[in-house]
Amino acid sequence: MIEVTQPEADRVAEVMGVKSDQFVAENLEKGIGQRMLMNAIPCRFLEVLSCTIYADRFAGCREFPALHLPGFTARYFTTRMHYARCPIIFNVLEALKKELCFFTPVLPVSV
Ligand code: SF4
Repeated sequence: MIEVTQPEADRVAEVMGVKSDQFVAENLEKGIGQRMLMNAIPCRFLEVLSCTIYADRFAGCREFPALHLPGFTARYFTTRMHYARCPIIFNVLEALKKELCFFTPVLPVSV
């Protein structure tokens, strides 16, 4: 889920020509610690594989998949969720598997 700050919500609301309160009510929900999160998956601004607010997208969108930020291990589960649909995550995890000599053990099959 993409986290959105109040200034980001205000900015995108202005771009869309709606009041900030309306934008928040229609597009965001409160998470843990009152963090505001996008309330829809897939995102409402995604149309035909393109972001309709790309120039004004949120910091969380700009940073995705956030592999360059500290705390990767704490975000591993959510990163792994996008393994099959994000080529950046796929390629990084596949490179890590090679680097770390990760392998899937072959279990004996009983007959
Ligand atoms: S980049 Fe655009 S379409 Fe993708 S999650 Fe962010 S706002 Fe939504």
